[in-house]
Amino acid sequence: MNTTPLSDSQREQLRGALEQRKQQLLAELGEAQRDTLAVATNRADAERLDDRKDQADRMAQATVRDAEATRDHDELVAVRAALARLADGSYGECTDCGQPVGVARLLAQPAAARCIACQSKAEARGER
Ligand SMILES: [Zn+2]
Repeated sequence: MNTTPLSDSQREQLRGALEQRKQQLLAELGEAQRDTLAVATNRADAERLDDRKDQADRMAQATVRDAEATRDHDELVAVRAALARLADGSYGECTDCGQPVGVARLLAQPAAARCIACQSKAEARGER
């Protein structure tokens, strides 16, 4: 838990990328919520019309959107956690083993919390 391999400019670049991604996800989640409301209204119409195929299509679309919203939400949680680590100075250290995550990995995936070795182990355990 001492030095990280990130330079100040890399840290600022990653902070910028994370802030941008956070705003993007917040916007997407806002849109997803509006979509859900629209689908609910359409579903009521569909029930009145008793158009069962149409209704099934709309339900399927809503399920896909829910899955996307869940993914966006999970990513938002990861992005916020990364920003918190930037603030407390632990950013760039693997949250499992404390070793540097690696600059290349962070540049590719700024919200990465674990080094590649620990990430592989976590995925083998069924975590993300
Ligand atoms: Zn690790």
